[in-house]
Amino acid sequence: MEFASSLGAMIWHSATAAPVSRDRPIAVVGAGPVGMTAAAALATAGLPVVLVELSPSPQPDWRASTFHAATMELLQTIDITGRMHAEGLVVPTYQFRDRRDGLVAEFDFGLLADETRFPYRLQLNQQHLVRMLAERLADDDRVRMRFGTRLTGMAIDRDGVRLTVSGPDGAEEIRASYVIGADGPRSTVRSCIGVAFDGFTYPERFAITSTPVDLQELVPDLGHVNYVADPREWLFILRTPESWRVVWPVPASCSDDEASDPERLQDTLQGVAPYAPGYPVIDHQVYGVHQRVASAFRAGPVLLAGDAAHINSPIGGVGLNSGIHDAMDAARRLARIATEPGTDIEAELSAYDRIRRTVAVEYVQADTQRNTDRLRETDDAVRRRHQDEMRAIAADPERARAYIRRVSLLESVRRFGIGTPPLEMEGAL
Ligand SMILES: Cc1cc2nc3c(=O)[nH]c(=O)nc-3n(C[C@H](O)[C@H](O)[C@H](O)COP(=O)(O)OP(=O)(O)OC[C@H]3O[C@@H](n4cnc5c(N)ncnc54)[C@H](O)[C@@H]3O)c2cc1C
Repeated sequence: MEFASSLGAMIWHSATAAPVSRDRPIAVVGAGPVGMTAAAALATAGLPVVLVELSPSPQPDWRASTFHAATMELLQTIDITGRMHAEGLVVPTYQFRDRRDGLVAEFDFGLLADETRFPYRLQLNQQHLVRMLAERLADDDRVRMRFGTRLTGMAIDRDGVRLTVSGPDGAEEIRASYVIGADGPRSTVRSCIGVAFDGFTYPERFAITSTPVDLQELVPDLGHVNYVADPREWLFILRTPESWRVVWPVPASCSDDEASDPERLQDTLQGVAPYAPGYPVIDHQVYGVHQRVASAFRAGPVLLAGDAAHINSPIGGVGLNSGIHDAMDAARRLARIATEPGTDIEAELSAYDRIRRTVAVEYVQADTQRNTDRLRETDDAVRRRHQDEMRAIAADPERARAYIRRVSLLESVRRFGIGTPPLEMEGAL
């Protein structure tokens, strides 16, 4: 099959695709958690990689903080889970609560113990995984790390891709055999290949605030991960190794400055649990939340992964996890293409597109949307119905197991595999 680049007249064809080599490495754009996972997986398979990142150093920001079982299984293959466990917090259960009624249902990841080595959520702030991956990649001579270098343009031609970048020494061109675009929600790679990013933005933004105060001492039956429904101000409360993090909605009428006013933060935190000395705040951000999925995850030799391909509500903690699944899926397919003669390149790349996009729509988007709607439901009767449903699921071990397999993305990974050869996937889609 031929691919006509949306960039112009140049044509890429799998039959003339350049082999992966030191001169034509695989380019990964974006050294966030997804890009660095992809780079580490490709290097582990022995492939040359150039990693292009506009920031001068790895991202230090507080963002996602949950790693699910299926993700830990994948990260184990790049030898990073030992370090994650050394710094992370193992959380075997999570709670669904109602702000007025308290605990509604508790779910136990231990029900997955016969199926995974990691029957829990590992809580670890994203910037620590980024740091660990950067340290790991710095020691790997198969990976050229190009921090402080921005992708400005890209052209697909007959046998590969030409990337135009602008770095400390000015503009230059990098030739690559394949590209993984992991350059976040405003992806330049996605724009270059002309792929739409349709969906919607929630009217409310989310405020996320971190405090070292131990909320479990103040609310003794609180779990380590808690989704708290409320028609006026729902909450998402979770513990990470260095803090408790509380997320709440910021109405559209409220500016970022108003939402970040220290008195307002105190009022909200005091509403979660009164604390006379006042809450110290060690991090606070207000951010927009979206549900968007790229119209295609692949154009010729270019693949999109992570937030470049899909962005979601954080309720459920699966956005970053599924991005890591994209990265590992892409890396396994590219490794087969590069190292196993006779691999059907077109079938591999189009399987990536179909499978990862299906997971993004049918699991990640569907579940995070449903989770968010449950928390913010304003109709009392519907809220009660949700509560009854959650209680019924938690009380039935078979239903509870199916539920946590799904919310931890284990079900999607067992159904579609990660980078499973296309011939073995027939019938899955
Ligand atoms: C405040 C906040 C809280 C969040 N909380 C959660 C949560 O609780 N749970 C959850 O699952 N998710 C959460 N997320 C989302 C999560 O952080 C993202 O899903 C995750 O960062 C995606 O990783 P990524 O590597 O795909 O993209 P990013 O982390 O965005 O990394 C993209 C990288 O590409 C680089 N880049 C961009 N353009 C270029 C270019 N032209 N050239 C070179 N480099 C470029 C950027 O500098 C960046 O380093 C949160 C996000 C925010 C902002």
